[in-house]
Amino acid sequence: MRAVRFTHWQSAPELVEIATPAPGPGEVLLEVDAAGLCHSDLHIMEWPEGTLPYALPFTLGHETAGTVAALGPKTTGVSVGERVLVYSRWGCGSCWHCRQGMENVCERSAAELGGHGGGVGRDGGLADYMVVPSVRYLVPLGDLDPVSAAPLSDAALTPYHAIKRCLPQLRPNGSAVVIGVGGIGHMAVQILRALSPLRIVAVDLRADALRLARDAGADSALLASGLTAAELRAEVGAAGATLVLDCVAADATLELAAAAVAAGGTLCYMGRGGGTLPVAPGRLPFETTVMIPTWGTPAELLEVVALARAGAIHTEAERFRLHEAVGAYERLRRGEVVGRAVVTPRS
Ligand SMILES: [Zn+2]
Ligand SMILES: [Zn+2]
Repeated sequence: MRAVRFTHWQSAPELVEIATPAPGPGEVLLEVDAAGLCHSDLHIMEWPEGTLPYALPFTLGHETAGTVAALGPKTTGVSVGERVLVYSRWGCGSCWHCRQGMENVCERSAAELGGHGGGVGRDGGLADYMVVPSVRYLVPLGDLDPVSAAPLSDAALTPYHAIKRCLPQLRPNGSAVVIGVGGIGHMAVQILRALSPLRIVAVDLRADALRLARDAGADSALLASGLTAAELRAEVGAAGATLVLDCVAADATLELAAAAVAAGGTLCYMGRGGGTLPVAPGRLPFETTVMIPTWGTPAELLEVVALARAGAIHTEAERFRLHEAVGAYERLRRGEVVGRAVVTPRS
């Protein structure tokens, strides 16, 4: 089968031909229908060897929708032909966090687990087929379009998890700021719109992304270039934003985020831009919470899929074929993808 594999640190992935994997006991083989390309994949490609405890090579793709092609010995709970979405953060299943359903913060290290999950250290969905180690990582898709559904497993799940934790704070006279309206940001705007009465202010460097933000439900969309903290604060309201989601998280955006957040509000460090946020009295308003979300839980992915099936959230997707994936990553790096780049191996 074909697979887009990450073979050498600090280099582009390669499209290669490898043996189709066979599912072991308890495992499931999927024929991949769609796989989203995430900005965090670019960081995996950029960071020097030793930053991540991953063994190379592995197949990229941690946002996967597929059709069950075969079951391993003693696997039960899904049927061949069923269409599913993959939860790609694979924990140990037995530590306290995992038993609470919080596999996103499994207590065992990625080195012990052989990676963070499918497409993040272990073989993911940018291939014709993918093996998923347990049916507990599969969510039935029903009649959802796989291209629209694949990015739900990270681009929607991660902001959903962060927003859900803040729900009691989200009151009608509050506001939210979303910085960076890419794959995650455009889902964050829609999830806020679906779950809260907040006034939503979106910020991005690209005019296309601002249009996407308005379509997604933002009340106001501001061009980031030259935007001062005072201008953002004026748009948000004097009290500041109840919730700020920084989907970029570079030094400059974190500075904007810190200036926008309200006393008692929450600042979410969502992106993997590597910026530093100084936390001290005077640097952030009093009673501010800083959160660094990572993924969500498998149960929250069920909720996200329910939101999508209800028509409340929708992925803006640009489609690519499998042999175009390496080039699509380059377009993503250059900021040329609007919404999510999604690869469809069967096309
Ligand atoms: Zn991701
Ligand atoms: Zn665990």
